[in-house]
Amino acid sequence: MGNYYQPEIETAPREQIIAIQNEKLQKQIKHVYENVEYYRNLMDEKGVKPEDIKTIDDIKKLPFLTKADLRDAYPYGLLGTDLKDCVRIQSTSGTTGKRVVAFYTQHDIDLWEECCARAIVAVGGTNEDVCQVCYGYGLFTGGPGLNGGSHKVGCLTLPMSSGNTDRQIQFMMDLGSTIICCTPSYAAFIGESLAEKGYKPEDNKLKAGIFGAEPWTEEMRQSIQKSLGIKAYDIYGLTETSGPGVSFECEEQTGMHINEDHFYAEIIDPDTGEVLPEGEKGELVFTALDKEAFPLLRYRTRDICVLTRKKCSCGRTHVKMSKPMGRSDDMLIIRGVNVFPSQIETVLLNEGYTPNYQIIVDRKNNTDTLDINIELAPEQMSDKVSDIEAMEKALEGAMRTMLGIGPKCHLVAPKSIVRSEGKAVRVIDNRKLHD
Ligand code: ADP
Ligand code: ZN
Repeated sequence: MGNYYQPEIETAPREQIIAIQNEKLQKQIKHVYENVEYYRNLMDEKGVKPEDIKTIDDIKKLPFLTKADLRDAYPYGLLGTDLKDCVRIQSTSGTTGKRVVAFYTQHDIDLWEECCARAIVAVGGTNEDVCQVCYGYGLFTGGPGLNGGSHKVGCLTLPMSSGNTDRQIQFMMDLGSTIICCTPSYAAFIGESLAEKGYKPEDNKLKAGIFGAEPWTEEMRQSIQKSLGIKAYDIYGLTETSGPGVSFECEEQTGMHINEDHFYAEIIDPDTGEVLPEGEKGELVFTALDKEAFPLLRYRTRDICVLTRKKCSCGRTHVKMSKPMGRSDDMLIIRGVNVFPSQIETVLLNEGYTPNYQIIVDRKNNTDTLDINIELAPEQMSDKVSDIEAMEKALEGAMRTMLGIGPKCHLVAPKSIVRSEGKAVRVIDNRKLHD
């Protein structure tokens, strides 16, 4: 059995969770209908009234919200409370377009920080831990969310923010950080920098890392666990639903428990909008059950994953989501074949390469091209051109097997691909330039 921040709710029987969801949804739908004109109009168009929503199953009757709605309604159109009741704004990273701003009342901040506290306790965090938060602080939700969660748990919190890796390492070593929170790509970079400074994985006091905000593969997890000498746990969230902590991994490390007392999750077919049964892969849709200032209902995340209610050995009863394999808009369609960057990462790490790579897509003579630049580790360097060519050929074969199409692989010199301190930019799609 594991450690819980709020044991009653985290291990509540399913019926109790459903009862909480039923009650909160009825209240939330009234709140939204009365206060958010934008969503009231969507409901009116669909002919749904708050009285039609009695149980959580009735949620299917409600209209979806999309990122396009958020952009339409920018900045205040989806606000559920008076601005005077809001105490904070955060904003998306703008990875896939115009930024979205989200509003928080103090109640919303508390709820969010509690979710992050659950994640920290789940990885073994207590008030004896030193928690180094190297997600970016500011408008991005990563830093503030984990910072708040760390305070709630009572950890000694190091609000490092991202970047300045030398200082990160110095503080980590001098102050004996035991938990680290950042993007997985930054964790990989910190691991690499530690080794360069001559530290072995056992030289640091870290025991666990909480990594999220971008897709990362199982292979990447293994690689980070090795380089930092820790257990690496996944955490998921998005600004629209508050930030990180919507779901988090427990000691099983087999998917993330969704905080179902606050967020109701559905998986839909992204093309038809139809709700899919448990275990099927599709687009994740969230309803915030008790957020006040930015109470999104049936928000389409565009993240593709699977939900499971299989019993978890940690004792938590909340549904688990698989690692998102990337957003539907991260998916590349190359010569008609669907390619996710995460598939490329899996092949690279399985073949013994570094997680430093960049994917370049282009169109030449009306045909899509896929090039992957992969950085060699110093020990993989060879003076013989034929060695490098053979390695590239082998990698291209492995990629073809995984992807169904053949990319061109280019092995490049160590340190030639820029490192990420936040969300890594893995794909450059030049086709957009020609469109
Ligand atoms: P942006 O959409 O501009 O990147 P956010 O900073 O709010 O804004 O990022 C939320 C998105 O980040 C999610 O929708 C998801 O695509 C991605 N994300 C967050 N956590 C994870 C995770 N653990 N694994 C994969 N993707 C994640
Ligand atoms: Zn669990």
